[in-house]
Parts: sequence; structure tokens; C-alpha cells
Amino acid sequence: MPEGDTIHHAARRVGAALVGKEIVEVATPQARHRHDGWPKRLAGRAVQSVDAHGKHLFLRFEGDLTLHSHLRMSGAWRVHRHGDRWGRHPRRAWLVIRTAEHEVVQFDGPVLELMTEGRTRFDHRLAALGPDPIAEGFDEADFLRRLRDDDPTRTFGDALLDQRNLAGFGTVWKSEACFLAGVDPWRRTGHVSDEEALRVVRGVRPLMQRSAERGGGQVTWDPGQRVHPRERRSWVYGRGGQPCRRCATSVRYRGQGDDNRDTYWCPACQG
Ligand SMILES: [Zn+2]
Repeated sequence: MPEGDTIHHAARRVGAALVGKEIVEVATPQARHRHDGWPKRLAGRAVQSVDAHGKHLFLRFEGDLTLHSHLRMSGAWRVHRHGDRWGRHPRRAWLVIRTAEHEVVQFDGPVLELMTEGRTRFDHRLAALGPDPIAEGFDEADFLRRLRDDDPTRTFGDALLDQRNLAGFGTVWKSEACFLAGVDPWRRTGHVSDEEALRVVRGVRPLMQRSAERGGGQVTWDPGQRVHPRERRSWVYGRGGQPCRRCATSVRYRGQGDDNRDTYWCPACQG
């Protein structure tokens, strides 16, 4: 599943292709949106900005209209030059925005809605989102307040995935952040100190920001050229049963929380 850094990177690429450019065409090939009339409603409007909050992406058109997207498990944003082959079948395109130079496509997007700017502020799902660790002005106090309002018996790794506490972590960043901070993701949230919770987020913020800027995904372990690019470049994520890169203890793996989301950790390094 794309995590916050992937969505921020998409927002930058989509923004570079659309902001300040004449929009030649908006198309919604997917059957679900065929009768929504978006091409007509958006005709002639410029894209003023494209931004992300956590895993949500917003295309803000002039005249108070915003397209909101969430990719869930399988969706993707792509920016193609005209004539480039699309990586996915055209039938899987939900939204196509064309300029003289580019085709911006959202594929397989289960959440795509056109709303007024005002509604984006009052929509309960969006209003409930926690602070975004990629944002420059990440609000640590707000994060801690939300974490303390959550169930203290909930496991910490599970609470980190709740987008109402922190918007943008998925299973990769959760596992890696807890490892880097030396915090066991199975501890009850009530037994994790403020200092530990902040250490978990502070450790990966620069890595998430770098990934948002340059793309390339969730690289947290980067020893340079000694490693084949195909090898997963993480400390623990995806490495169940393999030796910990710090202490050689076998990395453990188990599903966590109601949704049984992957958690990887080193039982020796994360006491
Ligand atoms: Zn270890």
C-alpha cells in the first residue's frame, strides 16, 4: 500500500505537470464516474495547487473545487508525456487530465471525489486526520495529545497506523520507525513515554521527507554500493526470520491489530 511519502511524491509530480498549465481535457473513463459530469464542471479551470496530507491527495482547481483521492491498496498516480505507453490498461484509468505536454492519470483509485473547498475542511474523515510527519510544521504536541486520547491498552504499533493519530505511516514506516527508535511495537501505548513516541517519529521524518522529494520509496538502510538494488533496503521490514542488521538476532514478524497489519521487529534491539 502506498504510504504518505509516496503520495507526497505523487503530489509533487502531478503538481509540476498541471499547476500553471492549460488543462486541455479532463476525462473520467471509469463507469462509476461517467455520469458525474466532472469534465464539464472542471472545463476551463486551472489547477492552482496539488498537495497531500498523509495518504490523501488534493488537486485544487480555481473556483473552489477540489478533487480528493485516496489510493488504498492498489491505486496509483502516473504522469506520462504524450505518446508514452501507460503502465496499466486504459480501462483501469479513473481520471485523465491532459495538458499540451502531459497526461496525468489516476489508475485503480477507489476513492476519487469532487468536492468544494469548504467541504474538504468539514468532511469528518478528513477533519479527523492527525498531523502529517512529512509536513514542515509537523505538530508534535498534537500528535501526543491524540496518542494519549487513544486507548492506552492498544499496542503502540497499531496506534501508529491509525491515521487519526498520525497521518501517513503504513506498515513499512511503522516497523522501521520503531526499530530505529529501539521501541517494541507490541508495548501498550500507555507504557510508551512521550519522549519515546516522539523519538519514533523524529527518526523517520527526514527519511520520509527525502523519499517524498526524490521518490524511490522507503529506504531506511542504505549502506551504499555493497548491496544489490533488488535487496530490500530496510532494517527489519520484510526481513522476518533473517538476522538483525545490528545484532544478528532473528527478526520477528506477526500481524498486529484488528486489521492484522504486518509488524517486523528485533526482540533484542527493541526491548
Ligand atoms: Zn537487533
